[in-house]
Order: sequence, then C-alpha cells, then structure tokens
Amino acid sequence: MSSSSQDISTGRRQFFSNLIKLSGAVLLAPAILKSVAVGQEKRRGAKPDAAAAGGAKELSWPVVEPGKDAALAMHYYHSHEEAKGDAQVNKAEKAGLPWEKQTCANCNFYKKVGTKKLKVAGKEQDVEVGSCTIFAQKLVAGPGYCNSWAKKV
Ligand code: SF4
Repeated sequence: MSSSSQDISTGRRQFFSNLIKLSGAVLLAPAILKSVAVGQEKRRGAKPDAAAAGGAKELSWPVVEPGKDAALAMHYYHSHEEAKGDAQVNKAEKAGLPWEKQTCANCNFYKKVGTKKLKVAGKEQDVEVGSCTIFAQKLVAGPGYCNSWAKKV
C-alpha cells in the first residue's frame, strides 16, 4: 500500500472513530442532563413528586385553618365530614357534580403541591395539599371544600 493510500485509510478510520464518539455523546446527553437535574433537586432536598407538581417551595406554606379569618367567610373545611354540619355550606349540585364529589382536588382554583400531615375530621393523617388562588400563600387539603368551589376546566 502506498503512503498516500495509507494516509487516506488512517484519515477515514479517524473520521469514523470521531463519528462514533460523537454519536455516543449525542445519545448519552439526555441521560446525563436528566441525572444532573435529579442531582440538583436532591441537593435542594425536594421530593421528585413535589418538584413535578411545582410545589417544593409551596409545601412550606401554612395550611388554611377552618373556622378562622377567610376560611370562616368561605366556609372552608378540610373534608366534607367536617363541612356537613355547617348550615351555611352550599351543598347544591354544581356543574353536574353532587356536593359530596366537589373537593378542592377537582376545583378550578387548586394546584396540587404535595402531601402533609393534617388533622382531618379529628384524625391525624397524610393528606394531599395544594395551593388555592382564593387563599394566597396558604395550602388547602385536596379533600377539602369551600363555597367558592368551581369545576376544574
Ligand atoms: S376555592 Fe376551591 S380549592 Fe380553594 S378552598 Fe375553595 S374548593 Fe378548595
């Protein structure tokens, strides 16, 4: 083999070697970026569930207390069990849903944040919580209810 055909062969080999390395980097890039993002979330102490819902910061917000301030005016309760004794709670069917099925979790003003320990109907338990546009920088319980309930669209 002449020296010029050897040069061509070496150059071709180098080209394919670079191409393979480059393809590998392109294929691995999404996995590397994902693992970097997960690492950053772990360092911040966020749970993936909360992060996915966009609620790591919001999870530290206080929970609305039934019977106090705006919650009293809106007749907010953590559950229907607690709300059913309040004569001022609007128990009418809305948007085709009976009152029993109207909850914060399916309300248009609710955004899931995560889970918190809450006393609901006298029992301490892990409850889904979320933000509500009616109660700024506070959390409401997913199974909760208030008179401003509107069907999620
Ligand atoms: S407006 Fe909706 S999400 Fe907010 S407290 Fe009332 S029922 Fe729950």
